[in-house]
Amino acid sequence: MNHRAVLPGLYVHVPFCLKKCHYCNFVITTDRSNDMRQQFFAALEREINYSRGRYGRLKFETLYFGGGTPSALTAAETLKVFELLRNAFDFANGAEVTWEVNPGDVDAEKIAVYRAAGVTRISLGIQSFQEASLRDMGRPHGLAEIRQTMQALRSEGFKNISVDLILRLPGETLEHVRHNLESALALEPAQFSLYDLEVHAATVYGARAARGELKQISESEHEAVTEFAEQRLEKAGYIQYALGAFARPGFESRHNLNYWHNGAYLGLGPGAFGYMEGVRYQHAPDVQRWIGKCLRADWKPETEDVLTPAQKELETLLTGLRLKEGISPGDFSEDTKEKIRPLVERKLLAQESGRIALTQRGRFLAESVFAALV
Ligand code: SF4
Repeated sequence: MNHRAVLPGLYVHVPFCLKKCHYCNFVITTDRSNDMRQQFFAALEREINYSRGRYGRLKFETLYFGGGTPSALTAAETLKVFELLRNAFDFANGAEVTWEVNPGDVDAEKIAVYRAAGVTRISLGIQSFQEASLRDMGRPHGLAEIRQTMQALRSEGFKNISVDLILRLPGETLEHVRHNLESALALEPAQFSLYDLEVHAATVYGARAARGELKQISESEHEAVTEFAEQRLEKAGYIQYALGAFARPGFESRHNLNYWHNGAYLGLGPGAFGYMEGVRYQHAPDVQRWIGKCLRADWKPETEDVLTPAQKELETLLTGLRLKEGISPGDFSEDTKEKIRPLVERKLLAQESGRIALTQRGRFLAESVFAALV
């Protein structure tokens, strides 16, 4: 078979959610009616066909279903998504295929379909092991569903399971974080993703923060909690290979590594970003607008950045700094090296063995480091 190119990544955004979590800023819909699902599939099929025509029959190394909640799809819908993709594209032998799951969303039938369809990696959105925090976040599950889902995934033979935990939740203390980590470690996942809570204005938490009613630990407590979490996971045998990403050796997410190496990827679905042929694009950051555009065959992206060499260099730097191993500054322009120097002097970046990487303090202040570089 003739492939025009070999690409590392394909991202598919599935926007359905049972309800909106109080911190959620993703492109989602809580309309899970048959009508909405049919529109989603009709639009996705057109976007796949358009992408096939635009880029050819691509071959991917990784495939990542995110959302929203991919596990909101029924077993039949899951098979249909794979069929649409396999009709249009090829996947490398041993491709990494990740499916995001929310606790309580799957049954034995769906999990068996994931295996049959070729899913190799599950990303489980646990977020916290405090029942009160889960309720406060508006999560659609409790602790019982976390345990049931993990058990069901294990029974079907899934070994490569990544779990998400959020740090700095309202009311969360070091004791809570310790409990969350120990509870998660007891489940023996292959990978951890630790996120700091981001408070966005147009969310329930954003409104609470504006009223002064969102109580979070202080910056210094947060730094101590982050350091504790990093050390606990490393002691348990997980290697931190990127900001907030810890894995048992050999279980690093190849899809995410491709992002952090600033590799190309195709994005499908509402709100999905793609980075193809040096252009970063997004068709529409809204479910209904995306459906409308796909059904009208309007393929002009609402966001389209043709990166200049200087922008590409900056992106390579910013994504590369997310990696624990950092990045080689060898080919960077003098201008970029000038920006790096003061951050090395402030010990936020370290230069060792010809590579630049965030220090521990730099990892904690990563957003400020990135802002200084931009
Ligand atoms: S499950 Fe995820 S995508 Fe859906 S509302 Fe909650 S945070 Fe947002």
